Amino acid sequence: MSEPVDVDVIVVGAGPAGSAAALTLARSGRSVVLLERGPFPGSKNMYGGVIYGRVLDRLVPEWITEAPIQRWVTRRSTMMMTSTQALTIDYRTESWGEKPYNGATAYRPDFDSWLASKAVEAGATLVTSTTATGLLRDEGGKICGVSTDRPDGDLRAKMVIACDGVNSFLAKEAGLYHHGGVEHFTLGAKETLSLPKSVIDDRFGVRGNHGVDIEILGATPGLAGGGFVYTNLDSISVGIVVSLSDLQTAKVRPEELIANLKAHPAIAPLVEGADVAEYSAHLIPEGGYKTMPELYTDRMLVAGDAACMCLAAGLWLEGVNFAIGAGEIAAQMAIEAVRDGDVSAQKLSGYQRRLEESFVLADHRKLADAPEFILGDRMQNQYPKVICDAVEAMFTVSNPTPKAGLSQHMKAAASKHGVKIRHLLKDARTASKLFG
Ligand SMILES: Cc1cc2nc3c(=O)[nH]c(=O)nc-3n(C[C@H](O)[C@H](O)[C@H](O)COP(=O)(O)OP(=O)(O)OC[C@H]3O[C@@H](n4cnc5c(N)ncnc54)[C@H](O)[C@@H]3O)c2cc1C
Repeated sequence: MSEPVDVDVIVVGAGPAGSAAALTLARSGRSVVLLERGPFPGSKNMYGGVIYGRVLDRLVPEWITEAPIQRWVTRRSTMMMTSTQALTIDYRTESWGEKPYNGATAYRPDFDSWLASKAVEAGATLVTSTTATGLLRDEGGKICGVSTDRPDGDLRAKMVIACDGVNSFLAKEAGLYHHGGVEHFTLGAKETLSLPKSVIDDRFGVRGNHGVDIEILGATPGLAGGGFVYTNLDSISVGIVVSLSDLQTAKVRPEELIANLKAHPAIAPLVEGADVAEYSAHLIPEGGYKTMPELYTDRMLVAGDAACMCLAAGLWLEGVNFAIGAGEIAAQMAIEAVRDGDVSAQKLSGYQRRLEESFVLADHRKLADAPEFILGDRMQNQYPKVICDAVEAMFTVSNPTPKAGLSQHMKAAASKHGVKIRHLLKDARTASKLFG
């Protein structure tokens, strides 16, 4: 590559993927510009949100003491609900509240700004309030930088890493955009509700900076999706994730779904008297491994949500750690390619291989069938009713009738809700293959 360049690598988007990439590049001595359209990193970003920070152990070892977290999650509940019932598997452990920790609630404007500041400390140039509007190409048609919305805003580089999130215009322009349609996207919407810390501690049964993560199946009746409740220090996040196509068909507003969730008998006492401090919504690329685009082309890589790397697999909703992992690996690939003077697609195919060897694509590959399974009708609409009814029957003392066993109650509930035993067995096998 002989054309003059302004910088070795341009990273577009200062979310977790972009900042991890810029940090890795800057540390290796490469010149890197990190472009962010918002006035500061994280200003445009929302999520549930729990961050699983172990991915930072090597990249930013001081994350445990430095990252702006709200609470360490020491209690993780999985709830299944119908309109009047709820069954919760509630797990708590003190070990997640001490080193090496597991997940932590955090506000994205705080967290994203912090991670970007690590990249800047390492030598990256962060340019905010600047949108990359397209790809620049040289006379041979090869990518050679990005155009921006600044006057004289063209920026030339040896490579571009697109970390510009779920609607990545750059990935689309480069022909590296997800396979599949609207059915592979969900809309996440949440309210942040203010409550005094002492009230949150009492209602959720935690102390100090320990917190709770509640994931909910059956929170969006009749629509594929789920719900969540997370504790921050003096606020709680309550939200839903719902299939975009179902939302369009049902013509229901996400705010109504959140209002219904907050009114549910299992949730209402947790949120009673809380003021809505903020409402936000964002798309999630839920299709997973099967809908991922090509991840590289000549002189360009794609990482994070821009490449559908958010893991939305029922039991897990993890995107930040996958974005950080992918951003770091993209940067390592770019460092090697720039060093060797070979930024061709063939050279950059090593990015895909490295991702496949890492947790990023290993987890996605293992759970490739999970999105379809979790968002399927039986899992969404029938099983919460079957399981809640069976458990209710199990614990309802039916004297003078003698007690029946759980399998009898399950059969009765399955038949009442139109679930065939062969479906139950088939789904149990699928679940055990995916999560076992
Ligand atoms: C409701 C909801 C709940 C979630 N819950 C969780 C959770 O609890 N835990 C978890 O780990 N993940 C969660 N996720 C997923 C997680 O938020 C994403 O997977 C993660 O943010 C992806 O990081 P990223 O860096 O790839 O993209 P983003 O975080 O979207 O960052 C992209 C950045 O690029 C910038 N940008 C976009 N276009 C341009 C442009 N043209 N020029 C310049 N800048 C641009 C944006 O402003 C943004 O800063 C949730 C998502 C949603 C919506």
